Amino acid sequence: MTTQLLDPSHSTDLTDELEFESSATEALSPRAQERADILSRFDPSNLKWGNIDWIVLGWMILMHAGALAAPFFFTWQAVVAALFLHWMTCSIGVCLGYHRFLAHRSLKLVTPVRVLVNLCGVLSGEGSPLMWAATHRVHHAKSDQAGDPHSPTDGPWWSHLLWLFVRHDEKHREAMYRQYVPDLASDPVLRMFERTYAFWVFGSAAVLFLLGGWPLLLWAGCVRMVCAYHSTWFVNSATHLWGYRNYKTTDESRNLWWVALLAYGEGWHNNHHAYPRFARAGHKWWEVDMTWYAIKTLRALGLAYEVDDRLPAANAS
Ligand SMILES: [Zn+2]
Ligand SMILES: [Zn+2]
Repeated sequence: MTTQLLDPSHSTDLTDELEFESSATEALSPRAQERADILSRFDPSNLKWGNIDWIVLGWMILMHAGALAAPFFFTWQAVVAALFLHWMTCSIGVCLGYHRFLAHRSLKLVTPVRVLVNLCGVLSGEGSPLMWAATHRVHHAKSDQAGDPHSPTDGPWWSHLLWLFVRHDEKHREAMYRQYVPDLASDPVLRMFERTYAFWVFGSAAVLFLLGGWPLLLWAGCVRMVCAYHSTWFVNSATHLWGYRNYKTTDESRNLWWVALLAYGEGWHNNHHAYPRFARAGHKWWEVDMTWYAIKTLRALGLAYEVDDRLPAANAS
């Protein structure tokens, strides 16, 4: 990710390095060849009958069906549980953990919190920590260009959810980890979640059912996940289509207030593409960023440290 407004002090961002390397590497080196292969697998032409990830597709259909059935099993307790788990898995797990902590290394966390935050991400049902972080780094390295896993330049529905239904085999996943998350790929905690991902997702669903029957499973499981899915997906689709720009980035990223509210601050996406390493996505005083408030709280409690809390000088508030 580059922007005209970036200063050299931002060049430590891993995603900047990845983009620089990918453009500077000789075309025929094995490393460049592997990257080219990875990027080609994100092309929309890969969405064919023989290459559909039926597990992901089936899961998404099941979750949406469960969410549609939920109103017939309404209880206030289930709704409150759904709201709490939505915040815990989407804001703490995905926005703070998968995105700002893993993909961008914007902060560090003490070990028990690091494990718990990653577990919250796993419980979101948005994939393993390594796959999420690797895919997201590809997005920053190739935003709205060929190789971007989910750009609306390939169609709004492609960027919103269709890209998820392309199957990525084990070999491809390992190649992605080697190339895009080499700093994370051998972390034993992340490897453990890679191996046991399904256990946590299905196990948590079983626990919800045992604790509160169908109302809790459908609301705190299906409705909560479906809402979090679309909030996250809107970051990939809507905030590369609609909204305003604070910075002239080389991609189509935008700041969109309603996505920022739904996705706990991630809707300030133009700010984020301009300064991907910064732990705070809201750069103006009124750009509310719930995930940043959680990071500040963890830092105040001594649970987060080395937080990259910079703001661009022109927008400091
Ligand atoms: Zn983006
Ligand atoms: Zn990012």
